[in-house]
Amino acid sequence: MLILECPYCGVKGEETEFTGGGEAHLKRFGPGASDDDFHGYLFKRENPKGVHLERWRHTNGCGKWFHAARNTVTLEVYGTYPAQTTEPPKDIKDKISARVPGWSWREFS
Ligand SMILES: [Zn+2]
Repeated sequence: MLILECPYCGVKGEETEFTGGGEAHLKRFGPGASDDDFHGYLFKRENPKGVHLERWRHTNGCGKWFHAARNTVTLEVYGTYPAQTTEPPKDIKDKISARVPGWSWREFS
């Protein structure tokens, strides 16, 4: 069972309290982008066995979007943080590094 905590209202609940929104920290491409960049933005997603950074929405609560860093194998949640951040906070990255040495996520590690 996946237990998440909303970083806005502090409610901690099972994943049924929330709605998954896919991969976090996607680099968006708009008008003027190359076909390959736009194709990658639309269709290419990470599917790791291990650390994953995801978007979640507190559907049955405050309704806000946030990011979660979790492990897809153990379901351990390293932390949640506001969706407006461009990368995971240092304390969460440090926690991941302590639990999964050598992890990386696109440009983060
Ligand atoms: Zn909330």
